[in-house]
Amino acid sequence: MNPLLENFNTPFETPPFDKIKTEDFLPAIKAAITLAKTDIQKIKSEPIPDFENTIVALDHAGDRLGLISSIFFNLNSAETNDEIQALAREISPLLTAHSNDILLDADLFEQIKQVYSQKNQLALSEEQNTLLEKTYKGFVRNGANLKEDQKENLRKIDQELSQLGLKFGENVLAETNKYSLVVDDESQLSGLPDSIIEAAAQLADEKEQKGKWVFTLAFPSYIPFMTYADNRALRKDLFIAYNTKACKDDELDNKQSIKDMLKLKNQRVQLLGYDSYADFVLEERMAKSGTAVLDFLNNLLEKAKPKAIEEVKELEDYAKSLDGIDRLEKWDFAYYSEKLKKEKYEVDDELLRPYFKLENVINGVFTTANKLFGLTFIENKNIPVYHQDVTAYEVKDENGNHVAVFYADFFPRAGKRNGAWMTSYRGQKIIDGKDQRPHVSIVCNFTKPTKTKPSLLTFNEVTTLFHEFGHALHGMLAKGTYESLSGTSVYWDFVELPSQIFENWCYEKACLDLFASHYETGETIPSSLIEKIKNASNFQQGYQTLRQISFGLLDMAYHSTNPRLISDIHAFEQAQMKRTSLLSEVEGTLMSTSFSHIFQGGYAAGYYSYKWAEILDADAFELFLEKGIFDLETAKSFKKHILSAGGSVHPSVLYKRFRGREPKPDALLKRAGLI
Ligand SMILES: [Zn+2]
Repeated sequence: MNPLLENFNTPFETPPFDKIKTEDFLPAIKAAITLAKTDIQKIKSEPIPDFENTIVALDHAGDRLGLISSIFFNLNSAETNDEIQALAREISPLLTAHSNDILLDADLFEQIKQVYSQKNQLALSEEQNTLLEKTYKGFVRNGANLKEDQKENLRKIDQELSQLGLKFGENVLAETNKYSLVVDDESQLSGLPDSIIEAAAQLADEKEQKGKWVFTLAFPSYIPFMTYADNRALRKDLFIAYNTKACKDDELDNKQSIKDMLKLKNQRVQLLGYDSYADFVLEERMAKSGTAVLDFLNNLLEKAKPKAIEEVKELEDYAKSLDGIDRLEKWDFAYYSEKLKKEKYEVDDELLRPYFKLENVINGVFTTANKLFGLTFIENKNIPVYHQDVTAYEVKDENGNHVAVFYADFFPRAGKRNGAWMTSYRGQKIIDGKDQRPHVSIVCNFTKPTKTKPSLLTFNEVTTLFHEFGHALHGMLAKGTYESLSGTSVYWDFVELPSQIFENWCYEKACLDLFASHYETGETIPSSLIEKIKNASNFQQGYQTLRQISFGLLDMAYHSTNPRLISDIHAFEQAQMKRTSLLSEVEGTLMSTSFSHIFQGGYAAGYYSYKWAEILDADAFELFLEKGIFDLETAKSFKKHILSAGGSVHPSVLYKRFRGREPKPDALLKRAGLI
């Protein structure tokens, strides 16, 4: 018996992690693909296609496959091993082929087209209309309207693109892992915090360099070194290593891959009738067009640049007065910034940590969700989990009704990838008239408890927890009918609104007072410290904004320029970054060859989304500031129009329903101190 193919006999039908074995996945996926194909066959056998038997049936098709895949890929991210990774390489192509079989099925598409052509006579609800549009467009945008030879061409392009994307990422990873800075003279460690030195010594041990210290290009090693190491020459070495990844004209060079990918992407969208890749992508985004994105970025650039110039000048003066630095170089930036920040705002992580014991912060997040949306979280030990560090909660509303299952998984371990994310094991939808409630999870890599101290978070970790919890609320409060429009299934440039807005509560005294108390004395965080956190949050906002804009502009340039005009990646990048660069260029460095967000991840023609969503979250939070951060009416409206609405309606419409008007950038500019 394969537990993945049985009914889950667990509380709320949660995945039976205690029964699932790794070897169950492949046969279960194969069987579920067969089941999904049967679902599709059934749809295709309908003599008279209509909205229910075709469009809705398609939304439900392959339910079991979706469930098993999400369990598998969630584990591959949070608790993986060699065996699971090898399985992933086997399972991924099966799923891609299956999804292509559906999307390029001419008969199935013909049937969808029939329903679509009658859409004005069908008297559909707003949500039904969105589902019909999304389904139809999804097929068209994946080539359903193409001739057979063009379809073959598209399949080929997709295959090549996925290979190139994988290769791009593998090269960046290989370059990251290849380099290490070995320090054997203790005096060269000057300035580094003890915990970082300890980690470097441990890494040296692992690399058979006992008694030395090893630093790498991985974030937890690179960032602290650039921020704290007094040794300027070593900072330069490390900086140059970091910024010349995959551009050294050797077998790990990514320049040709970038050009090939841009050409293939362009061919793909030309097949589909678009001028540029950006046009294709932005059609299904809140921003709608490349022009709108460029206007947005350029306006922001105009506001941020004067401030950024001032900030760089201030830092140059500071470095000169402190160490007689005549020319501030890029490898000096983080180092002097940290010192200046500490001097100006009298605040640092070590001072704040004692107020942010993990258990207290979790309680704070839950209490905030309770005050805003009436939710309560009850730990349930009967819900199986995949690792002992994971806690499962049952979530109830103010009337005691079941809302969701919520998993929290906080600490790093070998089988977990870096970063923090929200995911779900089961989506929300109405099935056979019954509301299927979601199973949502957040996975983080927070500071672990030690022998002497509990887990004490940095302020950055606190905002990360609120951020991921905001995504989780979007999933847990979902109230849709169809899974493909429910919860976080929204446009890419809208999905960060619920998460980013939730971070705002961390800066408010009324919220911090609920949970930020000293882990030893119980003393509530002093108002003066809250003030300092707030002030420090605006430190170098002009420069940081400019940096984000520069990546956004580079991304847009790559994806809207005719690829035939991009022959020299180096020259192209330099030309695009010219308007936004304030420190002198470093010979030979290149950012594009490791810009994984756009060449490997899903951010192509989408990097602007981060800033875009910041406009929304600042503007939306302004209403909470006006009415009160725990104002029930405002919370109710946010829940109804944003958190529960998913992708049922275009996000611009949803936003206007909540805010009563279009979003305005003023709140963000004010928050960042740019106006
Ligand atoms: Zn996020």
